[in-house]
Amino acid sequence: MADIINACEQRILKTAADFPMLDLLTGWSNINSGSHNKTGLAHMAEALKQAFSILPATIEEVTLPSQSVISAEGQPIPPSTATHLHLTVRPKAPLQILLTGHFDTVFGENHTFNTVTYLDDETLGGPGVADMKGGLAVMLAALQAFEQHPEKDQLGYEIVLNSDEEIGSGSSASLLSQAAAGKTAAFTYEPSTLPDGTFASARPGSGNFSIVIKGLAAHAGRNIDQGRNAILAAADMALRLKAASCEGMTVNPAKIDGGGPNNIVPDNAVLRVNIRASTTEKMNLARDLLKKTIADISQDHSVTVTIYGQFGRPPKIISQKSKNLMALVENSCRDLGLTAQWKETGGVCDGNNISAMDVPVIDTMGVRGGSIHSAQEFMIIKSLGERAQLSALVLMRLLKEGGI
Ligand SMILES: [Zn+2]
Repeated sequence: MADIINACEQRILKTAADFPMLDLLTGWSNINSGSHNKTGLAHMAEALKQAFSILPATIEEVTLPSQSVISAEGQPIPPSTATHLHLTVRPKAPLQILLTGHFDTVFGENHTFNTVTYLDDETLGGPGVADMKGGLAVMLAALQAFEQHPEKDQLGYEIVLNSDEEIGSGSSASLLSQAAAGKTAAFTYEPSTLPDGTFASARPGSGNFSIVIKGLAAHAGRNIDQGRNAILAAADMALRLKAASCEGMTVNPAKIDGGGPNNIVPDNAVLRVNIRASTTEKMNLARDLLKKTIADISQDHSVTVTIYGQFGRPPKIISQKSKNLMALVENSCRDLGLTAQWKETGGVCDGNNISAMDVPVIDTMGVRGGSIHSAQEFMIIKSLGERAQLSALVLMRLLKEGGI
C-alpha cells in the first residue's frame, strides 16, 4: 500500500523539483576542481558556500592534513592539507542526520574535459555532472524545500562537503567520522550505480599500501651474488600476495617503482598494492597476510621491508538499521513512481567510512548518469527533479516516523 502524500508534502516536493538545479550544476561543472587543483577547489568551495547559504546553517571551512604519500624512492613526502566545508543546522533538534558529498573530480587542471555540453535534450555531459556535482545540486534542492516543512524544527542535520573523495578521503576521513557519530541516518550523493537508478547496497573495504623494499646494490658483472635485488623481492611479493587472493579478498599489485641502470643490482623498490575485503574478517585476514608475506620476503631475499598505508575505507556491511533505511527509501521511490533496485558494488566511497560508525547510509542518492571518471561522463537531466523529490520525501518520512 502506498503511503499517502499529503498536500503539504506535495507542496514541498514541488519546491524541491522546481529548484534551479540545472543552472547551479552547469556553473559548478564549468569550474575545474580536480582533487589536486587547489585554486579550482577553493573557487568551487566559494561557489558552494554561496549556494548553500540559503539554508539556515553555520558554515565552517575545515582544513585538515592530507594522507602522506610515499615517493618512488621510498621516502614519505610530508602531508599537505585539504579544505572541506562543514555545515550545521539545528544541532539541538531531537532527530539528527548527516548528508555528504564531494566537490572534487578526477579531472585535473589541464584535462581537456572541462566544460558542460548538452549531448541531447535529455542528457548533459561534463566533468562531475554525475560524480557528483549533480548530487550536490539535488541535496541542496531537497534541503531548501524541506526547510519549508512546518515541523522542520524536529530534524537537524550536518552536511560535509569534502574535497578529497576521489583520492581516498584521507584528509576528510576524521571529519566524516565525527559528523557521522550518533546520527540516525546518513545520505551520500554519489550517482546511482546504473543509469536506471539502481542504488548501491554493500561495498567492500579498500586499502592502499606502499611497500618499500631496501636491498643492496652490487655490480651486475663483478659481484652480482653480493647484491640484494629489491626489484626481484618486490616482484616476488606481488606474486605471493596475488596468489593469496580468495573469495571476499582481492589483491591488485598495481605498480613497482625503483631500479636503475642495467649493470647495477637494484637496491630500491616500492610496490603499490590495493586490497579489497568484503567483511571485517577478510580485512583482518588481509592484514595478517601482509604481515606474514613481509616477514617471509625479508628473510628469503635478505632485504628490509617497510609498509605504509592502511584500509582507509572499511567494508560497508548491511545491518538491520541499513535494511530499515533501505525500505524507507524504497517505499518513497514507489510512492513517487520511481523504481528502486539495489546492487552490491566493488567500488568504495565515503559511505564506507560512515557505515563504519554504525550509521545506516544510502550512498547513491545523487543523479542518474554514467561513464563516470571518463570524458564520456553524463547525467540524465530529469533525474535532478526525481532525486530532489526523493530526498525531500525521505526526509519528511524520517521526520514523521521520528527515526527508522
Ligand atoms: Zn564520486
